[in-house]
Amino acid sequence: MSLTSTEKNSLNLALNALQERIQGELQLHRLNTAQVDSSAGDDVIADVLEGDAVAQYLHQHAEWQALQMARARFDADLSDVCMDCDAPIPFARLQVEPTAVRCIACQSAIELKNTRSHIGGHSSL
Ligand SMILES: [Zn+2]
Repeated sequence: MSLTSTEKNSLNLALNALQERIQGELQLHRLNTAQVDSSAGDDVIADVLEGDAVAQYLHQHAEWQALQMARARFDADLSDVCMDCDAPIPFARLQVEPTAVRCIACQSAIELKNTRSHIGGHSSL
């Protein structure tokens, strides 16, 4: 890791802040789900959990996993090393996205691939 101690501190704080935010959101989601569980039947629960709620939950879950990975990489002094090609990840990128695990080139390549398969999935409908 080539980050200075100031940069590491800054990244650590960013990860802590992100963790608190996600934990708060997940807790809120569990509270809402618990309220539904106590008063409604299965059909109603399915309805409630459809659409935005599920998308939001899955998004938070993915965020949580990304955070766990970023935290592990931070502990291993690998925060600024691309997991795909070992190129350095600029600190400016980590400031904007503390959970970034790839350099911009590798991330762009993956997003391009995802976009293509997304479009492909829709056109087959
Ligand atoms: Zn890379």
